[in-house]
Amino acid sequence: TIMADRTGQQIGNYRLVRPLGRGAFAEVYLGEHRYLKSYAALKVLRTSVKDEDMERLLSEAQTLVHLIHPNVVRVLEFVVERGTPVLIMDYAPGGTARAHYARGSCLSLATTVSYIKQIAAALQYAHNSNIIHRDVKPENILLGSGQHILLSDFGIALLAPSPELLSTQDMAGTLPYTAPEQLRGRAVFASDQYALGIVAYEWLCGKRPFEGSSWEIMHAHVHAAPPPLRERYPELPIEVESVVLRALAKDPQERFVSVQAFARALERASSASKLDAFDQSEVTAPLRERSDSPFATFSDKTPRSIFLSASPADDAFAARLEADLEARGVPIVRGRDTSGGRDTSDSYREE
Ligand code: ATP
Ligand code: MG
Repeated sequence: TIMADRTGQQIGNYRLVRPLGRGAFAEVYLGEHRYLKSYAALKVLRTSVKDEDMERLLSEAQTLVHLIHPNVVRVLEFVVERGTPVLIMDYAPGGTARAHYARGSCLSLATTVSYIKQIAAALQYAHNSNIIHRDVKPENILLGSGQHILLSDFGIALLAPSPELLSTQDMAGTLPYTAPEQLRGRAVFASDQYALGIVAYEWLCGKRPFEGSSWEIMHAHVHAAPPPLRERYPELPIEVESVVLRALAKDPQERFVSVQAFARALERASSASKLDAFDQSEVTAPLRERSDSPFATFSDKTPRSIFLSASPADDAFAARLEADLEARGVPIVRGRDTSGGRDTSDSYREE
């Protein structure tokens, strides 16, 4: 159905500034508050809703408005404009992960882990509130400032693409991420973990495990083993590969016990692999006084302090390193790996 561009129209207290995008059900506009001059994203449903569905939609919106979490796009308002439901939510100026990382691009392991952790935190929070997202995919992963990630379009069952309600064409964007049990109409919490597993797979190697026509993709979700990640990304540590493949188990019981457990296992696997030359629990090698040790100079002339700067994605690793060195009596000065010119490390080095 072709929809008129609503730019310029007023919905609630918002004036529609420009379209942001469109999905299977709705057009999304950037809106400006007429009094506060603040921005919001307005999701305007394409079809009007029948009375009996409206009640269900309202009760779902009433649940969503309570989902308040640093990694969740917040629902601000709900209005019905001449029979058309409109969901008003936080505007994410960074756009979607899909727009930011074009199809086929790969993210580093550190960035992937940082993003997956944030999405898992949002999903775990929703699961604890008894909400299944049902539509985890890069189009619903929005970028805030820095490396901050926001997940949108939570569990409005009536709005979530579902095989019962939609043609496979409308489902096209969602199908590559849909768990086998969800394809059968029985979504569970672990269905979100499966979708997040597909996202992780795609970010790590640039390709989703199952591609092809809608029918081929659905068949593969149910019957085919995902091609080993390391066929496409040979340097990927085997521990990381097995964590992702476990999230993609056909049987939801065989996945991780929770989406948070998946994210933690992924983080552990990626940092273990970075450190496999070292002891499991310690980042640094023991600082022994041995003349043949490369660390000998450490104990002779232990530096007064060590400057440590790491990107936010490596926070966990940096924290362990810091704790380790501190335990050995080496004072740490923490810096931030921020962009732009001279940072504290320069001034420190000059001292
Ligand atoms: P589906 O219909 O399967 O959910 P979708 O997520 O692409 O697919 P919509 O949720 O309708 O569809 O969103 C359409 C587009 O609008 C998104 O792809 C995104 O580019 C943009 N968009 C949605 N929500 C926001 C937001 N809160 N801030 C900024 N842009 C947004
Ligand atoms: Mg969406």
